[in-house]
Amino acid sequence: MYTSTGKTNEVIVIGGGAAGMLAALFAARNGASVTLLEKNEKLGKKVYITGKGRCNCTNLCDTQDFLQEVPRNPRFLYSALKLLNPEGLLQLLKELGCETKIERGRRAFPVSDHASDITRAFEKGMRQAGVKIRFHAAVKAILRAENRVTGVQLTNGETLPAGAVIVCTGGLSYPSTGSTGDGYVWARETSHPVTACRPSLVGLETQETWPTQLQGLTMKNICLNARSCGKIIYSEQGETLFTHYGISGPLAIECSAHLPDDLPVSVTLDLKPGLTEDQLQKRLARELTAAGKKQLATVLQSLLPSRFAALFPLLCGVEGKTPCSQVSGKMRTQIVQTFKALPLTVTGTRDYREAIITRGGVDVKSLNAATMESKNVSGLYFAGEVIDVDAHTGGYNLQIAWSTGALAGKSAANRALSEQA
Ligand SMILES: Cc1cc2nc3c(=O)[nH]c(=O)nc-3n(C[C@H](O)[C@H](O)[C@H](O)COP(=O)(O)OP(=O)(O)OC[C@H]3O[C@@H](n4cnc5c(N)ncnc54)[C@H](O)[C@@H]3O)c2cc1C
Repeated sequence: MYTSTGKTNEVIVIGGGAAGMLAALFAARNGASVTLLEKNEKLGKKVYITGKGRCNCTNLCDTQDFLQEVPRNPRFLYSALKLLNPEGLLQLLKELGCETKIERGRRAFPVSDHASDITRAFEKGMRQAGVKIRFHAAVKAILRAENRVTGVQLTNGETLPAGAVIVCTGGLSYPSTGSTGDGYVWARETSHPVTACRPSLVGLETQETWPTQLQGLTMKNICLNARSCGKIIYSEQGETLFTHYGISGPLAIECSAHLPDDLPVSVTLDLKPGLTEDQLQKRLARELTAAGKKQLATVLQSLLPSRFAALFPLLCGVEGKTPCSQVSGKMRTQIVQTFKALPLTVTGTRDYREAIITRGGVDVKSLNAATMESKNVSGLYFAGEVIDVDAHTGGYNLQIAWSTGALAGKSAANRALSEQA
């Protein structure tokens, strides 16, 4: 739609993922004429696989608790969360016909346990608000006149004029869902610094090869401690999975969000966080004495799953076939120390194909946190994972996408309408 000055007040949203759906919905509800361009054949391909297909769509906590779960640039999110916080999101979903439920750790899911219900609700909301949704519409370039956005060009050569463009193209993780990093290219082209991107919330590769022998084994209630340059960078208790490349599971995945740029990083696993070294010494001494001539590896089965018990003596530098009666005081100390601090060297992470999130992105300093608009190009907005903000698991990353999308949509509509006036 063109104004009397020849300018268009159309708001174009690029990307029909979490951020894009909310950007389009909020722009349309705030009075703008909106077109959403999605290169896939449907909306929310990534949303569909979130939460193992159940979509952990948010975390029902207050803003302070929320920001604790955002390791980088949390303050950038204040305005976005003020406009749409977790409670607001759940109300919006209810209004659009999608009931939700709260599970352990305040994690919210659709009652149906189907992620597709979330996307369906937002698609319904967008259509009701008059959003034009175009599939198989891959954007190639953002068009500008000096430092003002004028529209977009599609890969088929078609150009679409716009008074405001919202980039919601996601990051680089799970590229099969459509997130191929296009937004970073446009950000650089328009002079926005993009901080180094890498896979995050992802499994950790280790120099040691012994985890391969425990592939598929999950250890619950263990503690993972990671150190870099002498400082503890991560220390939490929970669940770890051994894999063919190293470690995964909740602890390793969360730890990946805290890794420094320079690897390797030393990690230790405390396999008995509930016992002090002294308590463990005493317990082991008691069990070894009672076991007599039985082999050490057999007796360790009372402390570890059997596969791990068979391997563990080797990791302590002790022969597993040693009769318990012959385990010396020195050996016992080695065993206890290994229980309390089993060392691993993290040399890398798994790649984007397995990463839940991309760390890094459009530098928040180049964006106005109150609107999500670029400070360099007026009428250009960014929302969602394309921005350098990421959070722990638990529904926080989707909420960041919903909230920043909503704020960008509302702000873009205000701009488009003020230009029309
Ligand atoms: C396996 C997995 C599980 C996850 N589970 C959870 C969870 O349970 N809870 C949680 O909070 N977070 C979860 N996340 C993270 C969450 O999915 C993301 O944070 C969120 O989807 C980011 O939303 P977005 O809109 O920024 O990007 P995306 O959802 O990636 O959407 C980007 C969209 O832009 C489109 N696009 C890209 N380039 C173009 C172009 N040039 N032209 C047109 N369209 C384009 C893409 O096709 C895509 O549809 C999970 C991620 C993964 C990979």
